[in-house]
Amino acid sequence: MKQLTAIIATLMVCLTLQAQFATIPLPQSVTTDAKGRTLDVASLEGITCDATIDMMRNAQFLSDYTGLPVISQTDKKTVAVRLRLNTAMTNPEAYRLTTDPSGITIEGRTPAAVFYGIQVLRQALFAKPATLPCGIVESAPRFAYRGMHLDVCRHFFDKEFVKHYIDILALHGMNKLHWHISDDQGWRIEIKKWPRLTQIGAWREQTVIGRNMGIFDGQRHGGYFTQTDIREIVRYAQDRYITIIPEIDMPGHMVAALTAYPELGCTGGPYEVWGTWGVSEDILCAGNPKVYTFLTDVFDEVMDLFPSDIIHVGGDEAPKVRWKECPRCQQKIRDERLQGTDKHPAEEKLQAYMVRYLEKHLAERGRRIMGWDELMEGDADRTTIIMSWRDWSGSVDPATLGYPCVKTPNSTLYFDHYQLPQSAWSNTLLFGGNSTVEKVYNYEPAPDTLTPEQKKLVMGLQANLWTEYIAYPELAEYQVLPRMAALAEVQWLSPNKKDYDDFLKRLPNLLNLYKAEGWHYAPLPKKEN
Ligand SMILES: [Zn+2]
Repeated sequence: MKQLTAIIATLMVCLTLQAQFATIPLPQSVTTDAKGRTLDVASLEGITCDATIDMMRNAQFLSDYTGLPVISQTDKKTVAVRLRLNTAMTNPEAYRLTTDPSGITIEGRTPAAVFYGIQVLRQALFAKPATLPCGIVESAPRFAYRGMHLDVCRHFFDKEFVKHYIDILALHGMNKLHWHISDDQGWRIEIKKWPRLTQIGAWREQTVIGRNMGIFDGQRHGGYFTQTDIREIVRYAQDRYITIIPEIDMPGHMVAALTAYPELGCTGGPYEVWGTWGVSEDILCAGNPKVYTFLTDVFDEVMDLFPSDIIHVGGDEAPKVRWKECPRCQQKIRDERLQGTDKHPAEEKLQAYMVRYLEKHLAERGRRIMGWDELMEGDADRTTIIMSWRDWSGSVDPATLGYPCVKTPNSTLYFDHYQLPQSAWSNTLLFGGNSTVEKVYNYEPAPDTLTPEQKKLVMGLQANLWTEYIAYPELAEYQVLPRMAALAEVQWLSPNKKDYDDFLKRLPNLLNLYKAEGWHYAPLPKKEN
């Protein structure tokens, strides 16, 4: 009986600890202190850290989150949160959070790992527990690529919002921001060698109202990021261990650039920065040598600004209508001896040629390219990272063709889609499709239809926020929250640790944190409450 009581006591301690670190994403492992000891939270005097710039910044973040002061030195009796690098730990993203009566120690091999532990403690302390149970909480993410995407072209979002979005990613343990900064409706990055890109291409005269109904608002819309702005944003993200992957979408989605430099198109224009949504038949001319100069100039400046080893080159939705008619594009096909097949005409090989040209140029500076899954149609090299979005019937998983890939399926991870069932849709105009928090939670990026070797090619996953119908910050927040919480759990947890009912029990604390931060978020569908 005594033994049974002891087991029950241990179980209770275990359950309590689970409850106190019931964070999102859930830690992989929680080991309790056998003696059932606890730490009195009120006894915490402050935060100490290793004396490096990164760790001192980490300490300041934790101080900002919790109100605990950063203290410079302690004697042995000081009860504190201690942030420590531990080179004995092998996984660079794994953290260990140890609680005992003398305080809390967060360790990791890298400052990034310690930062993930800080987010866990931030959530745990936000629940205002009187005590924390002693024990060890450990975790490491399942995927190396844990991202969110942001489109600032269809509607412009300014520097302060982008930083704010980065803060939201940081809370959720994410490490990649895929930043979509050029499109038909606006060119958003200053390029010194091609100044008209932002002087002309960053602005449109009007925007269509509703679903391309032919009625326009008559309001000039636009904006762009100077190179100084971009350096500031990149630095802000780096401080939070988030890599920004810039996307210059080519050869399609280029109407804004063509408006600024009409000679880069097959017909020579004139063009006008789009105020409608959709796919344009006007794309970069693949037979004009000046286009290749343009691309290398633009990507050179992009690489100067963004240290990311991955650079996104787009490649989606590039109709070949103009190329089929353009004498220069057809000459290029003959010059390069590009052979079409029944399935993939020569014009698709021409797109692949352009991508290879860029890939080679970027590789000279040690960068890898990533592009949308259309690139597989031109038989892109297996070094290209494929971002697969077209998950409808008949689509091919890039991993089955040997491509390293990041999953962002349209049906589930397009956060511009509605997140409530149809009956609950508000009057807000969004893209069709419905992806609930539960659907996001249950998504599996590396399904058992893949072989173990193919599964290794799945680098991770991200959700996308396209902004055709998302024109202001509050709606952007509402669209991504709380689906981002479900996404974070897919990014961090192995499938056998996922439990949607348990996730729902942990979610209210996070929603309260969103509320305290002043962030807007969507309610859960009724049946999920
Ligand atoms: Zn052409």
